[in-house]
Amino acid sequence: EIRGIKKELGIDEEPKLTVNSLEVLRKRYLLKNDKGENIETPAQMFRRVASAIASADRKYGSDVKRAEESFFRSMSKLEFLPNSPTLFNAGTGTNFAMSACYVLPVEDSLEGIFTTLKNMALIEQTGGGVGFDFSRLRPSGDIVRSTKGVASGPVSFMRIFDTATDVIKSGGKRRGAMMAVLRVDHPDILEFITSKSKQNILTNFNISVAATDKFMNAVEKGEDYDLINPRTGKIVKKLNASEVWDKMMENAWQSGDPGVVFIDEINRHNPTPRAGKIEATNPCGEQPLLPYESCNLGSINLSRMITRTGELNWEKIRDAIHNSVHFLDNVIDVNPYPLEEIDIITRLNRKIGLGVMGFADLLIRMNIPYDSNDALDLGEKIAAFFEKEAVNASEELAMQRGIFPNFSGSIWSDKSEGRRNATVTTIAPTGTISIIAGCSSGIEPLFAVAFMRHVLGGARLFEINPLFERIAKDRGFYSVVLMEKIAKYGTIQNIKEIPEDVRRIFVTAHDISPQWHVKMQAAFQKHTENAVSKTVNLPQNSTPEDIEKIYMMAYKLKCKGVTVYRYGSKGEQVLNLGLDK
Ligand code: UDP
Repeated sequence: EIRGIKKELGIDEEPKLTVNSLEVLRKRYLLKNDKGENIETPAQMFRRVASAIASADRKYGSDVKRAEESFFRSMSKLEFLPNSPTLFNAGTGTNFAMSACYVLPVEDSLEGIFTTLKNMALIEQTGGGVGFDFSRLRPSGDIVRSTKGVASGPVSFMRIFDTATDVIKSGGKRRGAMMAVLRVDHPDILEFITSKSKQNILTNFNISVAATDKFMNAVEKGEDYDLINPRTGKIVKKLNASEVWDKMMENAWQSGDPGVVFIDEINRHNPTPRAGKIEATNPCGEQPLLPYESCNLGSINLSRMITRTGELNWEKIRDAIHNSVHFLDNVIDVNPYPLEEIDIITRLNRKIGLGVMGFADLLIRMNIPYDSNDALDLGEKIAAFFEKEAVNASEELAMQRGIFPNFSGSIWSDKSEGRRNATVTTIAPTGTISIIAGCSSGIEPLFAVAFMRHVLGGARLFEINPLFERIAKDRGFYSVVLMEKIAKYGTIQNIKEIPEDVRRIFVTAHDISPQWHVKMQAAFQKHTENAVSKTVNLPQNSTPEDIEKIYMMAYKLKCKGVTVYRYGSKGEQVLNLGLDK
């Protein structure tokens, strides 16, 4: 934190921003004039957002000023932040939407495909990410009646979406992120699985295979399963499930893609089955949505929810949850949706996704190693508390403002008197908002104790974990030489001059065995209505068989999806260990 810049920006008191936070805010969040100069301070940004979001209260006859103050306070104290598009767009008068997550349907016609392409462009312009299920598209080689030609298949169309996103990215505030899903029984599944195996192809996509229970059973028994042409509904071929599964593991080992979405598990938790089936998730997998549905997310910073004696302050968390649910529900009302279809289904279900960030920081402050049963227990307890209180808040809002229109016929109709929102909780990656808040991201462990961070525009930021720096100073083992050594390796596990107990607490993503990553994802998933964004890190020397164990474990533990990242397997990494400098 640097006092000088804070004074200059008029934020001497709050928010307590780190240098990295200010850097990110200045580049991408604070409003600029035509010359590209920032024309608002961080405090003014939070005021702009608080005021725009609070204005929704007017409609319900509640106290707008009071809501604005509590929204402003929670953001400027870095206790709660909404997803980036809300910070970018609220109160700017640009008519840009404020949600991070969308799913668009892709119809099996040229017109349908290009309509979706256009809609994608409109969403990416606002900073939102889009997921697509390409499974309705007829397979490559199938007939095209109108032209007497042959169809080119889902993967070829994905390339058009990817190229369009590249072009939009160059003008936008952040890279457009996309998720492509293909059902495992689509005839082009093998082409899809290998579609990202070469470097620098489809870079704007995460890809995930939608694995059905039927397929997973066939994998376990080593049986064949049917591929179905979506245009005719006919079985066109059989494949051996284990062979397809192995292909997925090989490619995930090589490039991190494909991930898997367990589509039947997702639909067992679809809150509004009468409104349609869920086919896809947003780009990072944490938000399953119906076609055309959007969702806005927000995250509470757990590292700011600790009492002086180092305990979790549950009262404070409860207040923060209620305030945040109020905030996110308001976003639905003031959000200028990019399409009428999105507007309609989003307002019918009123999904919101409240989650956490700073979980790893919290564990460190409480002296709990991330890879321990105590950490799993705490994670589960926090998730359960969030779910319970967020539902309470949504039920209270329902009494004041009405239930969500699709409530009757939803899975909640016989469990609740009435809810304002079809879903309330989601664990987001919080990739950028955690930098703004100066905390660890989502429920991820620390990536490194010190590292270089790549940010948009090619800049690289050097970071030492502030909690570690403080402990090193307090316990008298701090030295510049030591910090440089840590930056070189990222991890401190093999640095003998650091006390054993400190090494145990500061475990990083790569020190932790992949099984613990999955267990933590599952612990949070157990009490999260939407899904959980989690990267399962694997060491560079792990094998496709290691990945297989992880994917199967995620399925057995009832995760809604899984993504792995083997160190060094991707061309471009957002975070680099010091070693790579
Ligand atoms: N997202 C996106 N582009 C990005 C980062 C995120 O479209 O560069 C979308 C995507 O849907 C992702 C969601 O925003 O799943 C939430 O990501 P994250 O929590 O990292 O966003 P933040 O609010 O921190 O910017």
